[in-house]
Amino acid sequence: MLVLDGKIASAAVKASLLQQTQALKAAGKRTPHLAAILVGNNGASETYVASKVKNCEETGFGSSLIRFGDDVTESELLAKIGELNADSNVDGILVQLPLPKHIDDEKIIEAIHPDKDVDGFHPMNIGRMVQGFDTFIPATPYGVLLMLEHFKIETKGKHAVVVGRSKIVGRPMSILLSSGHPQGDAHVTLCHRFTPKEELIKLTQQADILVVAVGIPEFITGDMIKPGAVIIDVGITRVEDATAKKGFRIKGDVNYEQAITKASAVTPVPGGVGLMTIAGLLMNTMKAYEGKFYHN
Ligand code: NAD
Repeated sequence: MLVLDGKIASAAVKASLLQQTQALKAAGKRTPHLAAILVGNNGASETYVASKVKNCEETGFGSSLIRFGDDVTESELLAKIGELNADSNVDGILVQLPLPKHIDDEKIIEAIHPDKDVDGFHPMNIGRMVQGFDTFIPATPYGVLLMLEHFKIETKGKHAVVVGRSKIVGRPMSILLSSGHPQGDAHVTLCHRFTPKEELIKLTQQADILVVAVGIPEFITGDMIKPGAVIIDVGITRVEDATAKKGFRIKGDVNYEQAITKASAVTPVPGGVGLMTIAGLLMNTMKAYEGKFYHN
């Protein structure tokens, strides 16, 4: 059984990016810069953004963290995005989701200039992705593709089952896995909350590659897994646990202990797809930087 270790796969991506930033610095050029906007003080969001900023530093990227309180207005946020869009020293912009209820996520995502949309959520970039054009791929599905590439997992002729149809993970993942991209030659079934459980079990039991993004801890149990399958667990849920130092434990959507007895390869949680999401984000930020003409 192969552990699809996100530390190993993301380190390889970061090492290659670091080489590029070192070469830029040696040539006296500026390096890619990511601007991250964080609204409020949701614990998980704080952790994700801190980790993104730290990874920028480790890779030789510049970064800025822009914080707003929960009471920020939509127009204040839009004004900041406008400012960052116009700043030629900022290559990538990300707004950490979720946002407070009084702010329209879609409006915010659409306000980010498509050339700086390193999370790959802008409708223009999603459209380009669906058409198979060169674009920013949403960071988490991109991270999964990078993971499959790193561990040389073949998708050609394989049946991939994706559970979950969110705009940021499941839906783009299902498209990419069948898109003809080097890691996208599978035939794909997409399941979601209205897939009857008996049907879902039959489908997951046929999956050569099973990608799960539902947000329900240990939703996939060993009996739902085809022997020899590759399991990609995207889920990250904080589950309260008084015995844990932080008062919670991170759980994936797959029962890991059961999965490793059936599967040929499994991503751990934590230490799997989460790290690859950051690798995808950094790759997109480098791409945004390279797409510019004014940085020389
Ligand atoms: P979401 O929370 O927006 O939606 C959940 C999806 O699961 C929906 O599409 C729904 O149809 C499906 N679903 C719910 N119940 C189901 C059921 N009983 N059977 C089948 N499908 C069901 O999804 P999301 O934003 O993709 O997040 C999913 C999980 O992935 C969460 O735990 C989230 O924290 C995690 N996540 C991790 C990363 C990462 O970097 N590892 C990135 C994004 C999200």
